[in-house]
Amino acid sequence: MKEALSSMIKLDKKYDVIIVGAGVAGLNCALNLPPEKKVLVICKDTPDKSDSYLAQGGICRLPADSDYDSYFNDTMRAGHYENNPASVDAMIRGSQEIIDDLIALGVDFARNADGSLAYTKEGGHSRPRICFHEDTTGREITTHLMSAARAHSNIFIVPCVTMLDIICDGSRCYGIVAKDGKNGRLYRLYADYTVLASGGIGGIFENSTNFRVLTGDAVAVCLQHGIAVDHINYIQIHPTTLYSKKKGRRFLISESVRGEGAVLLDKHFKRFTDELKPRDIVTAAIREQMAKDGTDHVWLDMRPIPGDEILSHFPDIVRHCLNEGYDVLRECIPVVPAQHYFMGGIRSDVRGATTMPGLYAVGETCCNGVHGKNRLASNSLLESLLFAKRAAQDIGAGYTPIDIAAAAAAEGALDLSKYSNPSRLLKEYKQMLRAAIDAENSRTLKENA
Ligand SMILES: Cc1cc2nc3c(=O)[nH]c(=O)nc-3n(C[C@H](O)[C@H](O)[C@H](O)COP(=O)(O)OP(=O)(O)OC[C@H]3O[C@@H](n4cnc5c(N)ncnc54)[C@H](O)[C@@H]3O)c2cc1C
Repeated sequence: MKEALSSMIKLDKKYDVIIVGAGVAGLNCALNLPPEKKVLVICKDTPDKSDSYLAQGGICRLPADSDYDSYFNDTMRAGHYENNPASVDAMIRGSQEIIDDLIALGVDFARNADGSLAYTKEGGHSRPRICFHEDTTGREITTHLMSAARAHSNIFIVPCVTMLDIICDGSRCYGIVAKDGKNGRLYRLYADYTVLASGGIGGIFENSTNFRVLTGDAVAVCLQHGIAVDHINYIQIHPTTLYSKKKGRRFLISESVRGEGAVLLDKHFKRFTDELKPRDIVTAAIREQMAKDGTDHVWLDMRPIPGDEILSHFPDIVRHCLNEGYDVLRECIPVVPAQHYFMGGIRSDVRGATTMPGLYAVGETCCNGVHGKNRLASNSLLESLLFAKRAAQDIGAGYTPIDIAAAAAAEGALDLSKYSNPSRLLKEYKQMLRAAIDAENSRTLKENA
């Protein structure tokens, strides 16, 4: 097995491509690189600690050509028309190919009796177009991508190695500086291409649905090196996470629950909003209602959904709520908004390229404009997979090795004392990110005043 304990691994000095992140974006990029390239995929924790594993609702697919305009408009409307139309177009047109790729890897999407794909619906969608596997779509997709990547002899997946920086000069990226979490070894690794696929930023917020290790390190590194970052304050709050007084990650109650008929209720158990509006609008309505009622949460009633449908489509949610003391078949559950998704990020074009040659950014860490100001439900897995594949194809098509002498000079210019205390450095990155978000929020507030 190539994914071994990192303490037993001595990484090579040079790879063809280094990918930072082992979620759907990192893995699909690795799988689509030319098979003769030596690819290193690192992740901060174990590979199952990526948000890709947590995705519940599903992944969008254009169900028929006749749905193109409606899907495009739904995505743009949810994003407040701040989306990049070229990225949205590329995502929608590529959606059938991505689902075909996943099915070829063995991903088991729900089917109708006639064998065709079954689609569910979420807020902001004017028709059902979301493929799903129960309420664990992300786990189903990611485990298949991971098995496929492990079967490739050119792909090396190494857990518990954290990127602390990139090696670069004014003209190019030459690789990364990384710390092995198990043996404390500091690595300076060269790569012809470096791909940042390091996910969201939920770990910098107190209440988030994201894994705590996802703290936007790659975004902070880019800010530090003057690599363009866009819309750093475009942060999505999910309307419905299970209310809890416990500390730690918030458990998501998927929007497809509302898509299938669940309703939101105030403290008198009365409906107060249209549950199928885009997320930012439903979140605002819930917060307004909580303020009016003087409560810490509102209620979600899943009982309008037939019981057998709840059990077959949402078994993970049923199980988790039972563990927390709520039986969704018999009672309402308390829900509250929490940080969920980062629409902003490292600027990347439709090929996944950043503003620094040799450096790509894909998945939630990047901002290619697909989501505008607010992501439409279930567009994220699709966007991550599609643009990661494009980045891999772009790297393969224009492949140019680095100049090793230039890489060595850039490595020589590193101030190694910066990496002597990695936890302190990562904490500084978090603070830098928070400050950048706050500054952008104040700037936009002033502009709109
Ligand atoms: C609870 C939940 C439910 C969701 N449901 C859906 C859904 O139904 N449909 C949908 O489309 N989207 C959904 N999303 C969003 C979607 O899951 C994510 O946006 C998507 O999976 C991001 O994939 P990614 O590969 O970019 O990042 P991730 O899957 O988060 O992977 C990030 C990787 O980067 C690594 N990493 C981070 N920093 C470093 C570092 N410094 N050094 C080394 N490695 C690093 C991490 O260890 C991890 O391996 C959901 C998200 C959550 C949290």
